[in-house]
Amino acid sequence: MVREEARRCLRCDVCLRCGCCVEICRDKMGIDALKMGYIDFDHPGPTDFRITEERCILCGACAANCPTRAMRIEDRKGERILSLCGTILNRQKLTCCQSCGAVMGPDRYLEYIKSKTRSIIQFAGIRPICDACARKSSAGCIDEITPV
Ligand code: SF4
Ligand code: SF4
Repeated sequence: MVREEARRCLRCDVCLRCGCCVEICRDKMGIDALKMGYIDFDHPGPTDFRITEERCILCGACAANCPTRAMRIEDRKGERILSLCGTILNRQKLTCCQSCGAVMGPDRYLEYIKSKTRSIIQFAGIRPICDACARKSSAGCIDEITPV
């Protein structure tokens, strides 16, 4: 009984169980980091947020499409944090541009973008720079990238 209770969503007043977050993560992002077995009422399955911690790149697509803001993503104290009804599902350290200091995102997210696009995000060893600074650098507007 305790196990069953632990599986139960304790904030079903906030999460509508619409499944938008799961679908977007799986079908649009191709990541499949949300295993929320309680969403399909007729065919309940296991819920496992360890998968979220392992796979989630903290892109924010699930939170942006959540109709109730049950799923949230925020940058706080140098970290990007994904939470569901207040429960933290994943948190990763943020990487900032080593030239201008702008927040670029967690490394896992930047690697994903790099693998999917022709982004000019630069990873010069451990000194990443944002697209804007990379453009300036390649145009000769800044001579060298200096750590902030
Ligand atoms: S967290 Fe939001 S998007 Fe996901 S099932 Fe609940 S209400 Fe729907
Ligand atoms: S933030 Fe994580 S869980 Fe949400 S869509 Fe992106 S990868 Fe999936």
